[in-house]
Amino acid sequence: MKPAKILDGKAVADEIRREIAQEVALFQERFGNSPRLAAILVGDDPASQVYVRNKERACHQAGIGSTVHRLPGPSSEATLLDLLQALNLDPAVHGILVQLPLPRHIDTRRILDAIAPAKDVDAFAPENVGLISQGRPRFLPCTPHGVMQLLGRSQIPLAGQHAVVVGRSDIVGKPLAMMLAQKEGPLGATNANATVTLVHSQSDDIGNYTRQADVLIVAIGKAEAITADMVKEGAVVIDVGINRLGDRLVGDVHFPSVVAKASAITPVPGGVGPLTIAMLLRNTLEAAKQAEAARTPRG
Ligand code: NAP
Repeated sequence: MKPAKILDGKAVADEIRREIAQEVALFQERFGNSPRLAAILVGDDPASQVYVRNKERACHQAGIGSTVHRLPGPSSEATLLDLLQALNLDPAVHGILVQLPLPRHIDTRRILDAIAPAKDVDAFAPENVGLISQGRPRFLPCTPHGVMQLLGRSQIPLAGQHAVVVGRSDIVGKPLAMMLAQKEGPLGATNANATVTLVHSQSDDIGNYTRQADVLIVAIGKAEAITADMVKEGAVVIDVGINRLGDRLVGDVHFPSVVAKASAITPVPGGVGPLTIAMLLRNTLEAAKQAEAARTPRG
């Protein structure tokens, strides 16, 4: 059997980021301002600080403005809600992102629900999730969208394929299952129209499902849980997981054994991860375009 193709998420993300930077330059020329992202970071969780810094840097490289609001860990929910209200009303801010996790004394759902749907670049708001489910998205959630772009740009068709998604979180698994089953994908009809099975922690014998997958996508947060005996020969394997194992970062898939069985596979790191930030930039630009379109009278 031919060795698996390693899907280089970093290269695909770089290509997308170059496209976005070009579109941002055109946007600036046309409207005289830049798309702008406001990020809110509460507390001093080291991983969150790294994520926010990476997002800030990526915005800068694409010509997108970014402001990070750093609040102390003990900040109250009311303080956060006041800040969100101000950002919702600020016409110079197009996208708002609240870095998760929030400290335990804050009701995450309440905070996320306070972001104006038109600025909800993570696409978590019920209105935005509803639009995705109806196949007319305002924004696509960043990690699932990154997976779709990676598959499409790697010339891996989804139409008619059996896609098995392992994990049903609101951030990854559930929206991804919805997107795979749509009639139109971000890159057209072949980048959608899959037959979808969604597997989770209460599913009986998950190997029974994963072994049927033409395209297997795993997002469970369990280090190297998917082993070669759970994968069909020649399957495409997308590993969303990021787990720390000693001093190494590993995915949810046991890469050393699965790589010998798959036809294509993402590495960790360097697979899906880089695409998530690229798609956040895409949504911030989209939010800015939509805001300008809403300002411009028709006809
Ligand atoms: P999450 O919110 O913890 O959800 C995990 C999901 O996996 C849940 O639906 C859970 O089922 C299911 N699950 C857990 N153990 C399972 C098992 N043994 N068999 C089958 N299903 C199982 O996690 P998440 O936010 O979706 O993230 C998943 C992984 O992706 C994590 O490693 C995270 O770090 C990574 N991630 C990466 C990116 C990126 O940019 N690459 C972005 C986001 C997340 P129940 O619903 O029944 O509990």
